[in-house]
Amino acid sequence: MGCKTRFPRRFPVNVPDLSWRDLGACAGAELTIFYPEPDDRLSIRTAKAICDSCDVQERCRRHAMDSREPAGVWGGLDERERRRIWRREGRRLRY
Ligand code: SF4
Repeated sequence: MGCKTRFPRRFPVNVPDLSWRDLGACAGAELTIFYPEPDDRLSIRTAKAICDSCDVQERCRRHAMDSREPAGVWGGLDERERRRIWRREGRRLRY
């Protein structure tokens, strides 16, 4: 007897639209710039400088905050800054 697992015909799909990433100033950039070690201030500054010229910075920052991205520079914020905001704002975030 085989397993007769039944799946619903339609799966609830809640995939966020991340197409804005293709418009980011980091598109095609070396990923290691955006995922530096937490104490690598030079790489963090370099990533933030790229973010400052990015047309989708606000969307990127909102995505990172909403999805609680744990690592990297997103929307001009490094992980320490995001953690600080999460702590300060708690679950009710305003950014
Ligand atoms: S804000 Fe920074 S990390 Fe986000 S898409 Fe733009 S360049 Fe990339």
